Amino acid sequence: MDFELCTDDFALLKDYPHRRYNPLTDSWVLVSPHRAKRPWQGQVEKLAPDTRPAHDPDCYLCAGNVRANGEQNPPYEDVYVFDNDFASLLEDTPSAELQTGDLFLARLERGVGRVICFSPRHDLTIPDMEVTAIRKVVDAWVTEYEVLGAKSFVNYVQIFENKGAVMGCSNPHPHGQIWAQESIPDEPLKKQRAQLKYWDMHGKTLLSDYLDAELNGAPGVTARERVLFENEHFVALVPFWAVWPFEAMIIPKRPMARISEMTDAERDGLADAYKQLTVRYDALFQTSFPYSAGIHQAPTDDIDHPEWHFHMVFYPPLLRSATVKKFMVGYEMLANPQRDITPEKAAELLRG
Ligand SMILES: [Zn+2]
Repeated sequence: MDFELCTDDFALLKDYPHRRYNPLTDSWVLVSPHRAKRPWQGQVEKLAPDTRPAHDPDCYLCAGNVRANGEQNPPYEDVYVFDNDFASLLEDTPSAELQTGDLFLARLERGVGRVICFSPRHDLTIPDMEVTAIRKVVDAWVTEYEVLGAKSFVNYVQIFENKGAVMGCSNPHPHGQIWAQESIPDEPLKKQRAQLKYWDMHGKTLLSDYLDAELNGAPGVTARERVLFENEHFVALVPFWAVWPFEAMIIPKRPMARISEMTDAERDGLADAYKQLTVRYDALFQTSFPYSAGIHQAPTDDIDHPEWHFHMVFYPPLLRSATVKKFMVGYEMLANPQRDITPEKAAELLRG
């Protein structure tokens, strides 16, 4: 262990406002545990009625249906991936950098947007699916990462899922997206810089040391306090620096830069962890738990990247019930993210 912590007063974090450092993104979150008890008088979300049919004739993702651009989905039986009809990035974008002095800079950005239907069943979500079916989603992620990443102009592949109307997801059909592009976007780029710095200093990945401390304890760090569960190959936990109330990470025990390095058993392990975490989410407030989730991993820029330790992050917006959502406004828009319930308390609730 290379952690050197001032350990005396870690217990103070339970009761007093404090800032926690996120070493992956070099940023801070303000934690205000004393506020978790205040009464709630803010906005309450309406629950969407959850009486979806197995097949919806009006859904553009259901098997056999015609999409807005006139294309017809095949009668697919498990996972179906296709080019987003309204992608935010376009493959035939030319290359150009536009600059005037130091103040006006823009670059044309070439990319590809893909949609991945997790299941032909309109009424299922990841926690409802069998692990064997989720495994097919994992396989499709790996294939897309490899195929898109092999394109000479693609340097980063972002795999993500946006679930639930409160996350702005327009279609309840279980699906995710994959955006592949020329540039490494800001969030993974921040993580890449931090991981490279750590790798250069310690010769180990940042997340293997972090995982070791969370699982086995370290000065001031209680073993497993933030760990939700583990299987043979993955650990799910609420990170020490979590911003969202029930934010979580799924981290492979073995340092791997990219999902394509997973063995067969590790792919099963990721599918299992994805299911276990989302089942816990749904159980927490007895609702279909909304979130944005995604995988951060090494870019596809033909560089080795031993510093990268891929991981999956989950950012759910719910705060204290199925209908009370956390807002990132005011201080959080202008200064720093802030949370009331501590990550340790969130982990305890998710374990329970
Ligand atoms: Zn559908």
